Amino acid sequence: MRAMVLERPRAPLAARDLPDPAPGPGQVLLRVRACAVCRTDLHVMDGDLRDPKLPLVLGHEIVGTVAARGADATRFEVGTRVGVPWLGWTCGVCRYCTSNRENLCIRARFTGYQIDGGYAESCVADERFCFALPDAYDDVHAAPLLCAGLIGYRALRAAGDAEALGLYGFGAAAHLVAQVAESQGRRVFAFTRPGDTAAQDFARQLGSEWAGGSDQPPPVALDAAILFAPVGALVPAALRAVAPGGTVVCAGIHMSDIPAFPYDILWGERVIRSVANLTRRDGEEFLALAPRVPVHTDVEPMPLDQANEALRRLRAGEVRGAAVLAMPS
Ligand SMILES: [Zn+2]
Ligand SMILES: [Zn+2]
Repeated sequence: MRAMVLERPRAPLAARDLPDPAPGPGQVLLRVRACAVCRTDLHVMDGDLRDPKLPLVLGHEIVGTVAARGADATRFEVGTRVGVPWLGWTCGVCRYCTSNRENLCIRARFTGYQIDGGYAESCVADERFCFALPDAYDDVHAAPLLCAGLIGYRALRAAGDAEALGLYGFGAAAHLVAQVAESQGRRVFAFTRPGDTAAQDFARQLGSEWAGGSDQPPPVALDAAILFAPVGALVPAALRAVAPGGTVVCAGIHMSDIPAFPYDILWGERVIRSVANLTRRDGEEFLALAPRVPVHTDVEPMPLDQANEALRRLRAGEVRGAAVLAMPS
C-alpha cells in the first residue's frame, strides 16, 4: 500500500510503499476512502505530543471499507463503510473505563499516534472502536465528522446550556460546531486570526451573528467560549469575554503556554476546563445528530501524496473547513 509516513518528528512525511497490514483478532482491514487532516496531526509531527510510534502513519478521521476481518471480528460485513476516530483502543478495566469516561483511559491508544492511521491506502482498526456512518454523507464529507465533528460536539456539551457562545479559531471543528449550536437556538460569535476576513466571512455565511479578530471584544458578554486555536494567550482573552458564571473550554490536545492573568478575570465563578479525546458514545450521538441538523461539512479534497501540502495549508490557516485526503474512486 501507498502511505505517507512520519519517520521522525519535525520532518516532512515520506511517501512509502508498505505491505498491507494484517488484521489481528477483533480487527478489520480497511481500504481507506478518505482521511481528514486534523490539527492534532501537526502536533504529532511537530513533536508537541511526545509518545508517537515511529515510523507512523498519521490520520485519525478515516472513512474506509471493510476488506477483511481478523479472527473473531464479526461486527461489520466485508464491504461495509465505517469510520475510525482518534480513540483506537481502551483497556476496559481502569477506573475511567468503568465509569463511562473511556476518553481518559490510562492505557488508551490513539489512531494516527500509537496506532497507524489513515494517511495510507489501507489500515487496520479494532472493530469495537469503529463507527457506522450515516448514508447522507459521501466519503470526503463524512471524514471531518470523525474528529472535528465529534470532539467539537463534546466541547459544545462541556459549554453547557450557554446561549451566547464564542468560538475561537474558525476551522474544521468550529465550522461544524457552529451549525449544531445554531440549530439548538444558540447565538454564535466567531473569533479568527486578526485580519482573516475570509474566515470571518465563512463564519457569517454559516450563521454566526458576529465574526471578528481574536483581539477584539465580542459585542455582548458570552455565556461560554470554546477554544479550538492552540494559542494559550486566548485563554485570558476568552475569560475577559465571558460573563460571570461562564465557561472557557479548551478543546485542543496541545496549546502554547497560558500567560499569567489577574484573578479578577476568573472571579465570578468563571470556569476554565479542557476536553480530552472522545468516548464511543460521543461518536454515536454526534453521528446520529449530524444528518438531522443537518450539518454540512465544507471540505478541500486533496490526493494522498499531497499530505504535506495539506498540512502546510492547515498550519498557515489557508483551509476553509477541513482538508481531506481522498482516494481516487
Ligand atoms: Zn483530530
Ligand atoms: Zn481504561
